[in-house]
Amino acid sequence: MEHEHGRSPTHYRCLGIGVGPANLSLASLLHGHPEVSNLFLDRKTAFGWHDDQQIPGTSLQVSMLKDLVSLADPVNPFSFLAYLHDQGRIYHFLNARFPAVPRQEFRNYLAWAAGRNENVVFGEEVREVAFDGVFRVRTDRRTLTADNVAVGVGIAPWLPPQARPWTGTTQYHVSEFMTRAQDLGGKRVVVVGGGQSGAEAFLDLVSRTGTALPRRVSWVSRRRNYFPMDDSPFTNDFYTPSFSDYFFTLPGELRKAFNEQHLLSSDGISEDTLRAIYQRIYLHRFVEDRTDLVGLHPNREVVEVGRGPAGTWALTLRHNDQPGRAERLEADVVVWATGFRCAPMDFLEPIAGRMERVDGEPKVDEDYAVLWDGPPGHDVFVQNATRQQRGLADPNLSLNAWRSRRIADRLLGVRGDDQLASFIEWSAKDTGEAPWPA
Ligand SMILES: Cc1cc2nc3c(=O)[nH]c(=O)nc-3n(C[C@H](O)[C@H](O)[C@H](O)COP(=O)(O)OP(=O)(O)OC[C@H]3O[C@@H](n4cnc5c(N)ncnc54)[C@H](O)[C@@H]3O)c2cc1C
Repeated sequence: MEHEHGRSPTHYRCLGIGVGPANLSLASLLHGHPEVSNLFLDRKTAFGWHDDQQIPGTSLQVSMLKDLVSLADPVNPFSFLAYLHDQGRIYHFLNARFPAVPRQEFRNYLAWAAGRNENVVFGEEVREVAFDGVFRVRTDRRTLTADNVAVGVGIAPWLPPQARPWTGTTQYHVSEFMTRAQDLGGKRVVVVGGGQSGAEAFLDLVSRTGTALPRRVSWVSRRRNYFPMDDSPFTNDFYTPSFSDYFFTLPGELRKAFNEQHLLSSDGISEDTLRAIYQRIYLHRFVEDRTDLVGLHPNREVVEVGRGPAGTWALTLRHNDQPGRAERLEADVVVWATGFRCAPMDFLEPIAGRMERVDGEPKVDEDYAVLWDGPPGHDVFVQNATRQQRGLADPNLSLNAWRSRRIADRLLGVRGDDQLASFIEWSAKDTGEAPWPA
């Protein structure tokens, strides 16, 4: 590590860009390893985890063991259990018997892990990464150098083109829900999007009471129905290291088809959320006599957005089975829960031409290092940017610790033990005999 006359070091073995759960996991795994000097930068002024979507009552969609480190390094001091213990609340947590960890509590755990790691810095944005024998990482404050770079810039809200011209205080992406979706009492609100985020927004709106309750809440989804996430044991095997490694070997078109076919195993709605919504609707309709509060419109796409009378919005819907019949919805407010895409990595522009790409993603090896023409030992690792190559688990927390462990092991020059393979034989076992005749 290079020291400039007593000033803080400016050269690192690994420089992390972005501090969400992905890079925070890597920072946690590297923390006890001074031989890999590291620094992780985030442009936010303080740690946050989808803070504007911390809707009260929401929970983590995965096991609490899928924290930053436990599945890869169960004795690491940055585990969720270590957090509970450190805060003196481990018995309370046990007694509370939450069916799933409250999302806000998991967010607080992540903030705790970031706060006790001196290699994590907030309020510094990476603007450019160049290479001239070392990586030169230019931020809004200084230039640092590194042997390796780990990019974990996560996801960015996505809006369909027909929504983009209209965004503001009465049309917005669900990622801004907690700030914007206030004072909706007596209004007509349309939620567009049939995934977990849309479901949580819808549930929150129909659960408001008294004068805070909207006049009407409509829920539009392209999916044929409001489908659940598949959380059953064999489907969950898709979210294990051995399946991820198998998936990685498949041809691109098979991987694409798989991701489309099994999307609901990750992007469906938690069954608990669906049940809560159904029960709320029952109570409104049959017990509290609010027969006109809710409108459910699955199997439809919003094809046009325009201005309606007196400052309202007019949405044109196309029914997937009956495309000839145009439906109209009038709204005071539209919440677009239309998902997220990988955040842009424009700061890699100076070296982008040297990096291989596949299916619109940086092409990675088995350790998530981008294939490029740079010298060995100088890697750009990417986290949460290779769904087409590594499968549906890539954006979520399931393989977060394991993926970071792969990267950390590469930096440390070791290879940790993998867990036992799945019960399922994912790959064909070649007997060496002639294949079946076609
Ligand atoms: C509301 C919500 C709830 C979710 N709940 C779950 C769940 O329960 N279970 C699950 O498995 N998954 C869940 N997910 C999926 C989610 O994507 C992951 O949990 C996780 O946030 C991905 O982590 P990440 O580190 O890749 O990205 P992010 O969390 O998006 O973090 C990326 C970070 O990079 C920073 N950054 C970007 N560009 C720069 C730059 N140029 N310089 C410096 N910093 C930069 C950003 O400020 C940000 O802090 C949820 C997603 C959402 C939206």
